[in-house]
Amino acid sequence: MYRETPHPIHLKDYRPPEFLIDRVELRFELDPECTRVEARLALRRNPAATRGDGHLRLHGEHLKLTQVAIDGHVLTPAEYRVDGEGLTLHRVPDRFTLETWVEIHPGLNTALEGLYQSGDLLCTQCEAEGFRRITYFLDRPDVMARYTTTLIADRTRFPVLLSNGNPVARAELPDGRHSVTWEDPFPKPSYLFALVAGDLSVIEDGFVTASGRNVKLQIFVEPHNLDKGAHAMRSLKKAMRWDEERFGREYDLDIYMIVAVSHFNMGAMENKGLNVFNDKFVLARPDTATDADFDGIESVIAHEYFHNWTGNRITCRDWFQLSLKEGFTVYRDQEFTSDVGSRAVKRIRDVRTLRAHQFPEDAGPLAHPVRPDSYIEINNFYTTTVYDKGAEVVRMQAALLGPETFRRATDLYFERHDGQAVTTEDFVRCMEGASGRDLTQFRRWYEQAGTPELHIRGEYDATAGAYTLSVCQQTPATPGQPIKQPFHIPLAIGLLGADGRDLPVWLAGESAPPALGTRLLELTEPEHRFTFTGLSERPVPSLLRGFSAPVRVHDDLSDADRMFLMAHDSDGFNRWDAAQTLHERLLLALTNDVAHPIPEDYIAACRRALCDMSADRALLAEVLSLPSETYLSDRMTVIDVDGLHRAHRQLTQHIGERLRDDLLAVYHANAETGDYVFSPEAIGRRALKNLALAYLMRAGDEEGLALCHAQLEAAHNMTDVMAALRLLAEQGGAEADAALDAFHRRWAGESLVLDKWFSVQASAPRPDALERVMALLKHPDYSARNPNRVRALVSTFSNVNQVRFHAADGAGYHFLVDRVLELDPVNPLLAARLLKPLVRWRRFDSERQTLMRAELERVLGRSELSSDVFEVVSKALA
Ligand code: ZN
Repeated sequence: MYRETPHPIHLKDYRPPEFLIDRVELRFELDPECTRVEARLALRRNPAATRGDGHLRLHGEHLKLTQVAIDGHVLTPAEYRVDGEGLTLHRVPDRFTLETWVEIHPGLNTALEGLYQSGDLLCTQCEAEGFRRITYFLDRPDVMARYTTTLIADRTRFPVLLSNGNPVARAELPDGRHSVTWEDPFPKPSYLFALVAGDLSVIEDGFVTASGRNVKLQIFVEPHNLDKGAHAMRSLKKAMRWDEERFGREYDLDIYMIVAVSHFNMGAMENKGLNVFNDKFVLARPDTATDADFDGIESVIAHEYFHNWTGNRITCRDWFQLSLKEGFTVYRDQEFTSDVGSRAVKRIRDVRTLRAHQFPEDAGPLAHPVRPDSYIEINNFYTTTVYDKGAEVVRMQAALLGPETFRRATDLYFERHDGQAVTTEDFVRCMEGASGRDLTQFRRWYEQAGTPELHIRGEYDATAGAYTLSVCQQTPATPGQPIKQPFHIPLAIGLLGADGRDLPVWLAGESAPPALGTRLLELTEPEHRFTFTGLSERPVPSLLRGFSAPVRVHDDLSDADRMFLMAHDSDGFNRWDAAQTLHERLLLALTNDVAHPIPEDYIAACRRALCDMSADRALLAEVLSLPSETYLSDRMTVIDVDGLHRAHRQLTQHIGERLRDDLLAVYHANAETGDYVFSPEAIGRRALKNLALAYLMRAGDEEGLALCHAQLEAAHNMTDVMAALRLLAEQGGAEADAALDAFHRRWAGESLVLDKWFSVQASAPRPDALERVMALLKHPDYSARNPNRVRALVSTFSNVNQVRFHAADGAGYHFLVDRVLELDPVNPLLAARLLKPLVRWRRFDSERQTLMRAELERVLGRSELSSDVFEVVSKALA
């Protein structure tokens, strides 16, 4: 907690560590009330560092130091100093063994960083700076050491004792205790340390690596969840095989362990050999988890597994380089999902998230480059910019290099930097080294914040048979970066003929036409003109195919052009994008004018898409899903929350009425038959069916309502149950309440399912939504100590239920800030994240601006704030 203003840390101040730690021996006497930690560190002066003042400063927070010794000599209090940030040793030898003895209190650790209690388990979370809450250490990622860890605990309460690497010794001790010693042969930064202790059941399997080594796979869950781990295990094996095939990466230890815990701040954590997961990304049974949950599990399991190479074997030099591991690993998990499922659908979903979250972040007061220059609290930089835009930046390099060269470049990266802590600059150098390309200008993607805007105009010259695209780029100012240099942008395009087929994209001056299909143009200047020849008719351009760069495009296409692309583009992503733009333009027009006509040809295009039985159902469902109100709000200069909500309902209802018969037919044609299957095909059917149901329900259709009730009764999978329950909850009334009660009774004790029960109520845009949410805060199943529960209720309400959260009286804002202030002393990381929806306050009308700002100021008025919350609020108000 801070009273004074916390100060920022700058990338330009990076210095190599003065000391290195080669070996770490830890001994834990585990107990929730008081755990004793004994650490033996082999330290030596870093030959690569400049000599400082001779003192050694170790990080340490919330530790009670009982004794400290150097080379076996216990120090007197005059020989060291302890403060809130760590331990300073005055004068130390060039090479020595440091021993410390500390006490910590996991049972009181509500921040969930360091060693903490989750239910009956003890577990750790060390990234980014949690290890310093366990013992005194050089808690920075460029200090890599080999760890040996001995865990001692009560045998009945904690029969399972896990840490990184391989178990090397076990012993039964007096007083009912036992011990297990683990050794991790790979040097690692402290943020990858982990331990878990508790009464856990295990799901076991094996994997034979490409080179023939046997790896034991273990997923640890609380005993009552033993029947919910199969999907996670399947996902893990798929990911391991894929990484061998796509990136040539093999697993390197004899055991790979995953532990599911119920109290976790983030999604999951890639600790070496011992991943700790938010149980939401492990546990699934068809009747307890939706298709989206199954998808989430598959991709998060893969993501953490892929970190073993991109993050663990090669780690970050400092936290400014976070995207080195996160951007690359997100890129890898996206590619994995694309390869095992539908590439177009995956791309659509990722771009939807990017546009809904990253674009607004990049346009707001918290905008920062993929590689930030400064931060106050590193926990605030696990952002969609670092993760998702970071993945786009890797994707663009892959596109510029082409698949074979990109693979050679990643091979070079793994070979050159294995065992090191490196920078995004090192990564780009490998891209250059393998390709011979100069990526000097490309590096701006790491340095400059903000989303570039492309203005694209097309001109057809019939006599010359030539089509010219003029493309201008421009990037708005962001905090601290008033002027932007042009980016190096890969722009993938196609040209469609009147028959809907791809024409050759033949640049003037080239002797022969290229192969049909997509062509990658490269933008480097503020303005370009590209002339294409050999065109006997005016083509329809398909711009930014596959979303080849994270930019906003402003083009001069007509609605008719977009309907044409929606029907014919060979690029699945762009078929979707054309549809989205049509929906979006119409919704924004309706927002401004209730009486704006809904064109017949638009309805006809929706009908054609809906009835296109040859297409991928999942893709159709995406094409026919309207952009969310939150996303649309980012497209307005001054956000009109009520107008958007009304327009959204108006168009949904209109489509539901006009396409009624087709929607009913689609519903029945895709109805569930037989057992639940987790396959892209089956998921697509459920998605399309439930979308049809949603249109019917929102149009107030009687038959739709009957189908909805019937589905809720009969469904044996959570996807269909939730789809129906959500629609009923949205309608409200006695029937909805009865359905919600029944659901609650049915799933009492299933924590992850109860999260759904909370979130479905928080997201329903009923007029009494806030009252309901406030009442739910008092529900016996609500707990501010469980981040999943807080997110299910509070974040869902404030992020998803835009029209109710932004109620004109400001009650939603007041409610949220009450939660933030309550949570800040308990779990600052979570409290800071809750604030997100208030950060965009300048985008609203002046009345709402005043209310939001007053609430932000109320936070800042608190005398004691965490650095997490302080940073977000002060930057939001700056
Ligand atoms: Zn990650």
